[in-house]
Amino acid sequence: MPLIGVLAIQGGFEAHASVLAGLGADARRVRTPADLEGLDGLVIPGGESTPMSLGIEREGLAEPLRELAAAGTPVLGTCAGLIMLDRDHLGVLDVSSRRNAFGRQVRSFETDLDLNGAGGPMRAVFIRAPWVEEHGDGVEVLAEVEGHPVAVRQGNVTAVAFHPELSGDTRFHEWLVKR
Ligand code: GLN
Repeated sequence: MPLIGVLAIQGGFEAHASVLAGLGADARRVRTPADLEGLDGLVIPGGESTPMSLGIEREGLAEPLRELAAAGTPVLGTCAGLIMLDRDHLGVLDVSSRRNAFGRQVRSFETDLDLNGAGGPMRAVFIRAPWVEEHGDGVEVLAEVEGHPVAVRQGNVTAVAFHPELSGDTRFHEWLVKR
């Protein structure tokens, strides 16, 4: 059984854990660097990026998280998790993100995304979501909304601006578990 960590400093652990369980993976709450030991993959969930970022610093998780990603472990960041991976935070993804890019509460919405090379559209739930404002050449854009990237991949790191754990479409979690 693959063992997938879900960062549990702040934000949504349960929904990711149940999707992972449905795919035959074990989910482990990650709160300290020791919790990263032996993981086959990691989810950085949605939540609030400011407290999440402070929690990562407080627990001494920033460097261990960078090392985990640099070692090739698959990482999936969702919503605030995308922000954590960007240039201004962990610096694991060569992207700049814009917080609450669609506006605040009013711009929580669902839409069908055209997902590059992933076989058919994907229903996606956006909640006060960021988008990718700018990215380096090594970043592959998997989907856009209104011309702004909302799903990107760079090697073993994938980040999406929406909540794939809430829509019932498990393709991103499958990528994580299979990789
Ligand atoms: N708006 C949040 C932030 O900027 C992210 C929202 C989410 O993760 N659903 O931190």
